[in-house]
Amino acid sequence: MTQPIHMALAGNPNAGKTTLFNTLTGARQHVGNYPGITVDYKEGFFTHNNQEINLTDLPGTYSLTAYSVEEVVTRDYLVNEKPQVVINIIDASNLERNLYLTTQFLELGCPLIIALNMIDVAKDRGIAINPEKLAALLGVPVAPIIARNGQGTDLLISQAVHQSSQQWQPRDISYGEDLDAVIMEMITLITEQNFLLSTYPPRFTAIKYLEHDEQMLQKGRQENSLTATSLEEKVTQVSDHLLKTMDAYPEAIIADHRYGFIKSILRQGVQTHSFDTDRLYTSDKIDKILTNRLLGPLFMCLVLFGLYQFTFSWSEIPVSWLESFFGWLGSQAETLLPDGPVKSMLISGVIGGMGGVLGFVPLIMFMFLGIAILEDSGYLARVAFMMDRIFRIFGLHGSSVMPFIISGGIAGGCAVPGVMATRTLRSPKERLATILTVPFMNCGAKVPVIALLIGAFFSENKAMYMFLFTLISWVVALLAAKLLRLTVLKGAATPFVMELPPYRFPTMQGLAIHTWERTWQYIKKAGTVILGISILLWAMMSYPELPAARQADFEQQRRQISDAVTPAILAESTSKSEAVSEEALALRQQITFIDRQESEQALRNSIAGKIGLALEPVSTLAGFEWRTNIALVGGFAAKEVIISTLGTAYSMGDVKAEASDSLGQRLTTDPSWNKVVAVSALIFIMFYAPCFVTVVCIAKEAGHWGWALFSVSFNTIFAFLLATAVYQIGIRIG
Ligand code: GDP
Ligand code: MG
Repeated sequence: MTQPIHMALAGNPNAGKTTLFNTLTGARQHVGNYPGITVDYKEGFFTHNNQEINLTDLPGTYSLTAYSVEEVVTRDYLVNEKPQVVINIIDASNLERNLYLTTQFLELGCPLIIALNMIDVAKDRGIAINPEKLAALLGVPVAPIIARNGQGTDLLISQAVHQSSQQWQPRDISYGEDLDAVIMEMITLITEQNFLLSTYPPRFTAIKYLEHDEQMLQKGRQENSLTATSLEEKVTQVSDHLLKTMDAYPEAIIADHRYGFIKSILRQGVQTHSFDTDRLYTSDKIDKILTNRLLGPLFMCLVLFGLYQFTFSWSEIPVSWLESFFGWLGSQAETLLPDGPVKSMLISGVIGGMGGVLGFVPLIMFMFLGIAILEDSGYLARVAFMMDRIFRIFGLHGSSVMPFIISGGIAGGCAVPGVMATRTLRSPKERLATILTVPFMNCGAKVPVIALLIGAFFSENKAMYMFLFTLISWVVALLAAKLLRLTVLKGAATPFVMELPPYRFPTMQGLAIHTWERTWQYIKKAGTVILGISILLWAMMSYPELPAARQADFEQQRRQISDAVTPAILAESTSKSEAVSEEALALRQQITFIDRQESEQALRNSIAGKIGLALEPVSTLAGFEWRTNIALVGGFAAKEVIISTLGTAYSMGDVKAEASDSLGQRLTTDPSWNKVVAVSALIFIMFYAPCFVTVVCIAKEAGHWGWALFSVSFNTIFAFLLATAVYQIGIRIG
């Protein structure tokens, strides 16, 4: 076979890129880094008529000007990786807006082919498109397709293969007399100075300068500051001139001309409507109800509640299977391995730590499936749209909604991509307020802890409580945002408009891939970061060991009790049999009692135990005893380890519980836990310091470690005050 051909897939958000990508590559793909957003590109492989093809799914963008991360990623990829052909996927039912990006591919000059997608939707809406004419006018092949069922994709790829042998060839679009003249001057200068020529065509650079593209301006200054300065001067001159003569900035004039170029193409018989476009499309009709001021929020609550109901009821059985599997694994290790630190590390650190996280995989998977359905159908965008009205009140921006949802606003996201998704916010203060409050959402790591505590203390109505705690997370996050916007981040609000993509039926394949991608991220984390932290915590909970004298003391007590009975009873008590005589049973219980006391003393003596005990005088205000403190301290690193640490701490230190009890059962029978403590702990866990990875991400995104430290200390103090209030009020009203 010949060399693989390198193709890139680009287009507006919701044009169908991912659908086409999945149709073409199937399972042969590598996926991006974080759940929630596709800022990292995906790569996949497939063969077409014996030709190996390597396909990259670029993030969705509306333009190639560096206004958002997606645009920067896409543009950098095109100019640095130079794919042999770009497949520009276009939503045929929204041709005019989608072609805006196409004009910029033409200006960049990359070999191009247009995949005219969703021709079924266009047809339903009475839009008739003539692909041959469009191709002739744009000078680019156009292949009509339906990405969802693969119709037309064969022909698309054949034509794309053909296009891949083309050279890069930028096309010119006229931007009116004034701009064209200055663009010519700039091109001369750029060519003479060999300015960024290896990366961008000269006209492209000139236009990006006129559009005030920050990234381009920065690159220019690094490349050759002299040339950059004179280019910037030219831009200032022409901007002043345009402001005086036309009362407009160059960006606006450039955009006008691009749309003009598109309109002139569409009018020449490319697009015709067989019936009135103004009529209410199905989507608009649905939206009349679903985003109605009154019915909309009501329906939204119903949908979210349904999601929790679905997640909890469907995952219950597989979760219990996994629980018993890890229990079985633990007991196997218990019987098969020789006593010693390795055994203890494997059981408490590895099996306990990973089991605590992996045991919740079914729950997380159902949650992600539900969210994928909401997202793929287009409903999630409506949620954002409705929440926008509320966000205004709290000094946040409509664009803050998605970061909140990604971070776990519906439960089960992750604050890391959530913090990164704030890049779409332009106002630094609104962005910071969003960055600092998204970690309050119930991310995928908190959900299992919440599920555990709800399951143990409020098992009558799990979905209702989950819904309630989600609601609390939003209320607290919004109030905290308001607090920040009234104090450290005071400032005016910026305006916002939002488009709603039409509703669509999600595809099975799309749902399966979205669900799996996110679940896999969760599993991967359990196998790496969480495993490391679990082992570290195990070590902190096991060392230093009890002094030899105290160990000998416990050994002495055991011997004394054993010596007091006949050898026959002693043998009976250490046998595996359940049915033993009363004396043997009593002996067994006494020995277990001493064992437990010994392990409790050992835990108290360990580093972690000492930390937990040292915090106890303060933490009891919120109802937490020293063993809970150990788990909460572990949670600073990653919230996932709270469960496994609680599991270890309460199996080591609990004097009465049966060895086979689940953690939930142990907590309900432990005297230091009750419903009030459970709520107080839930509140604390939901709102205290973000996990370590998020903190690093906040520092990076906010551009300052100060904000990361602020987030850790502010959240922890804030959460502790809330938890204390809950506990103090709770015990008073019983
Ligand atoms: P992306 O944002 O560009 O990756 O878009 P997606 O691939 O996620 O597609 C957005 C929505 O459009 C999904 O719900 C798809 O199922 C749907 N979709 C994609 N292609 C077609 C098509 O040809 N016809 C129809 N009716 N729906 C499509
Ligand atoms: Mg996509």
